[in-house]
Amino acid sequence: MALPVAPLPLRDETLLFEPAIAGDDALTVVFAFPNSYSVGITSLGYQVVWATLAGRADLSVSRLFTDGHEPLPAAPAVLGFSISWELDYGNLLALLEQLDIPLMARDRTDDHPLVFGGGPVLTANPEPFADFFDVVLLGDGETLLNDFFDALVELKTASRAETLRHLAAVPGIYVPSLYAVTYDGPGGPVGAIAPVDAEIPATVQKQTYRGNVLSASTVVTPHAAWENIFMVEVVRSCPEMCRFCLASYLTLPFRTASLESSLIPAIEQGLAVTNRLGLLGASVTQHPEFETLLDYLNKPQFDDVRLSLASVRTNTVTPQLAETLTRHDTRSITIAIESGSERMRRIVNKKLETDDIERAALNAEAGGLSAMKLYGMAGLPGETMDDLEQTAALMLRLKKAAPGLHLTLGCSTFVPKAHTPFQWCGVDKAAEKRLKYLQKHLRPKGIDFRPESYNWSVIQALISRGDRRLAPVLERVRQYGDSLGSYRRAFKDFQGQVPPLEYYVHDDWTLDQPLPWDHLLGPLPKATLQKHFDSAVIAQLG
Ligand code: SF4
Repeated sequence: MALPVAPLPLRDETLLFEPAIAGDDALTVVFAFPNSYSVGITSLGYQVVWATLAGRADLSVSRLFTDGHEPLPAAPAVLGFSISWELDYGNLLALLEQLDIPLMARDRTDDHPLVFGGGPVLTANPEPFADFFDVVLLGDGETLLNDFFDALVELKTASRAETLRHLAAVPGIYVPSLYAVTYDGPGGPVGAIAPVDAEIPATVQKQTYRGNVLSASTVVTPHAAWENIFMVEVVRSCPEMCRFCLASYLTLPFRTASLESSLIPAIEQGLAVTNRLGLLGASVTQHPEFETLLDYLNKPQFDDVRLSLASVRTNTVTPQLAETLTRHDTRSITIAIESGSERMRRIVNKKLETDDIERAALNAEAGGLSAMKLYGMAGLPGETMDDLEQTAALMLRLKKAAPGLHLTLGCSTFVPKAHTPFQWCGVDKAAEKRLKYLQKHLRPKGIDFRPESYNWSVIQALISRGDRRLAPVLERVRQYGDSLGSYRRAFKDFQGQVPPLEYYVHDDWTLDQPLPWDHLLGPLPKATLQKHFDSAVIAQLG
C-alpha cells in the first residue's frame, strides 16, 4: 500500500502564527490526522497542536492526512495522531500500514518511529486502541505537549525502552505497554490493572490547563470543511454536569477565556483575514461576559461577519442573542433539551423547565431567527414510554407557540461514556423502537425529525467502554467493512476469547467492578461519580 500522493493546498492557507525554522539536528515529527485534509484542518485541536510543534525550532514537522501530506522525512523519529472521531481508527491503522510501521506497539523496534496519540477520543478511553500506541497524551495539550517533546528531544539518543520508561514518569503521559491488565476469565470484566514494576506510577492523571487564554485557529483556509472559518474557544468544559455528558465531566472545571487578553485579540486577528467566525465551546453562552462579547460583535465594522455558534444553553436564548445571530447571517439556533419529560431531565441533571424551552423558542422567533434545532436522546437510563410521549408532545407545543420557526429534533441514542456518572449504564435496546416512535409522531406534523443511527450508537458504546481485548476485533472489522454487521461477525470470530458485544454495549455494569480506565484519572474521583449516579437513582424513584 502506498501513501496518498495528492499535494496539500498549502498555498491557500493563511497562517496566524510564525512557524520556526527547524535546526539541522531537529527531531523529525510526522503529525497526522486520520481523515481527509478538509476534515483535519477544521479541527481546532489539530490546528493548535500543529502550530505548537511547528513553532519549535528543535522539531521538524510534516503534516499527514488520508488524502495528502507535506514532504515526509525518510525515517521520522515520531509519528503523532490527533483523534476526534472514534471510527477514524480504521484510517489510523491504514496510515500505519502505508508507512510500513507495525500496527501493534509491541512489534516496533528502535528503527520505528515512536507513535503517540491524543485528542478527545483517546482522552475519554484509550484502552480499545492502547495496543496501537506507544504513548497516549491525556488531557489538555497546553503544557503536556511541550513537556512531552522536551523529554523526547532530551532522550533523542536513548533506546525505545528507555524512552518509554522515562516518559511514563511525566504527568499526563500514558505508556500502555507499561501497564498489565488481567481479566476475570476471557468473557469477564477487567480483574486488575497494575504497572509492570514499582518504578512506573500506578495511575496517570489527565492534565488540566488552568490559564484564561484558550485556543484559537492557527490557520484559515477555503479548503476546510467549514470554509474559511476562524474558530475561537470561548469556554472549556461546562458547569452543568448533565450525568451522561463527557464534554462536561471529562474536562472539568469550567474555564472561560478572558475577554480582554484572549477573546478580543484573537477575534481581531482572525477577522483581519476572514469574515467567518465560529465561537466554540460546550456552553459558550455561559461565559460570564457573553453579553459584552455580543455588544462587541454588534459593532458596525463587523456587520458582514458570518457568525456560527455551537449549541447554546436553552435559558440563555435571549432576544438579544437571536437578533445578533440574525444580523450576522445566521438563521438558526441549536439547543439541547435531552428530553421533553421534566422527570427525565431531573434524572440526568438537566436543570431546565419546559417553560424555559418554550421561552427560548419565542425569543428565537422574536429575534428574527427562522429555525431552531433541538437535541434530544432516546434510551436514557430510567426512561419510559411516557417520557418519550412527552418529548413528542413538547415538540408539538413549540410548533404551536412559535409557528414561524422551522423546528428540527435531532435525536441520538444514549451512549455510556467513561468518567461520567452513567458510565455503568448499558445502551437500552428499546431506544431503536423509541426513535421510530418519535419519527412516526413528529414527521407527519411538519417537524423535521433527524434520528442518529442506532447502529452507530452501538459501535460508539463499544469503543467508549472497550478494553484492550478489542484490539484484534477492531483489526478484523477492517476486513469486513464498517457496518454493525461487521462488528458482530468479528465478535463471532473471537468468541470465547473476548466478552460478547452485549457485555460492552448493553449490560449494566456493577458499581464495584474494576473499569478498564480505572488507572487513568479524570477530573473527579470514581467515588464522586458513584454519588452522582446514586442521585440519578434517587431522582428516578422520586
Ligand atoms: S448543558 Fe450541555 S454541555 Fe453542559 S453538561 Fe449538559 S449536555 Fe453537557
